[in-house]
Amino acid sequence: MSTSATTIELKSTTEPLSAAERSAILADPKFGQYFTDHMVVIRYTEGRGWHSAELRPYGPIEIDPATSVLHYGQEIFEGLKAYRQADGSVACFRPEANAQRMANSAVRMAMPVLPEELFLAAIDALVTQDAAWVPEDPEQSLYLRPFMFSTEVGLGVNRPSAEYLFMLIASPAGSYFSAGKTVTAWLGTDYVRAAPGGTGEAKCGGNYAASFLAQAQAVAEGCDQVCWLDAIERKYIEEMGSNNVFFVYGSGAEAKLFTPKLSGSLLPGITRDSLLQAAADLGIPAEEGLISVDELREHAESGAITEAFGSGTAAVVTPIGGFRGKESEIVIGGGKAGPVTMRVREHLLGIQHGDVADSRGWLHTIVPAPVHTA
Ligand SMILES: *Cc1c(COP(=O)(O)O)cnc(C)c1O
Repeated sequence: MSTSATTIELKSTTEPLSAAERSAILADPKFGQYFTDHMVVIRYTEGRGWHSAELRPYGPIEIDPATSVLHYGQEIFEGLKAYRQADGSVACFRPEANAQRMANSAVRMAMPVLPEELFLAAIDALVTQDAAWVPEDPEQSLYLRPFMFSTEVGLGVNRPSAEYLFMLIASPAGSYFSAGKTVTAWLGTDYVRAAPGGTGEAKCGGNYAASFLAQAQAVAEGCDQVCWLDAIERKYIEEMGSNNVFFVYGSGAEAKLFTPKLSGSLLPGITRDSLLQAAADLGIPAEEGLISVDELREHAESGAITEAFGSGTAAVVTPIGGFRGKESEIVIGGGKAGPVTMRVREHLLGIQHGDVADSRGWLHTIVPAPVHTA
């Protein structure tokens, strides 16, 4: 059992970036390149549980060369965002869902589970401390990266580490989105991302390490991202790069969303889940199931499939213009971003920024709106 002391000791920096330097970064934050002034660190020791939680100045950590994670890769992470609301407050989107997914990832990787209250306390502490880093621009946000890795020193491999570090860092994120831009996905069959019984459902660094060669192949083939197929038959579509994938069938009032069902090897995206639920607000039915590359080709050629897009926290929705394989070229919706894609994107972003009613209680307010006195 973990003891989970939920108090996070605050050790704020004496050298924060100046407001001018911060503004210069927020003018064009890109993605994952700049980090805020602080970070959260929480230790785990077998027998003692989670302890020594602190918020401290952002900076390097020193680890022994024999630290377990460097050799055996016991590492998991999460990704979520804090959004500036129109009233000036700051809210995080579905952090409980990230806490739950991190717990599931931890179980799969034989790591201790960080209790939800401690996960949320870490986010509250960092976003409160570094609230000035949450951009005002509605296309921007503060990306939060919780992660955890094994820190026991020693090369023995017959059991998981007895010590871990949970950390939380934050990075201002610009808009990934440029109007009208679509991506092309590579239907590669040489490499697989995840197999039944493997770690595909866990958000672990190792899945990414195993994906870079396939991603490089996609780029060499003139595509933007790799479309992952199932490991056994290499014919069912699972996801795209670090995004889940959606197809739109029909158009206008007849439009329907379709996404590959969670098979055990797909990463259960929180954006995916949110879109499946929020589509109902727009009167768009959404369905999960299996779709093979052959069906995709047929449905695209017949015009049944009208649009496709990827979903993930970083870009929210990424329009897909087509798929390409060694012998196939599948164009979707004339290669352009479609109207249903744009509608669901606007709707979800609207909920995240507080411009559309949050009927499911997905927003977790961290910093209240400033009080204006006359
Ligand atoms: C994180 C991730 C996603 C998207 O998950 P979200 O919670 O929507 O950000 C999809 N696929 C993979 C492989 C991922 O790592």
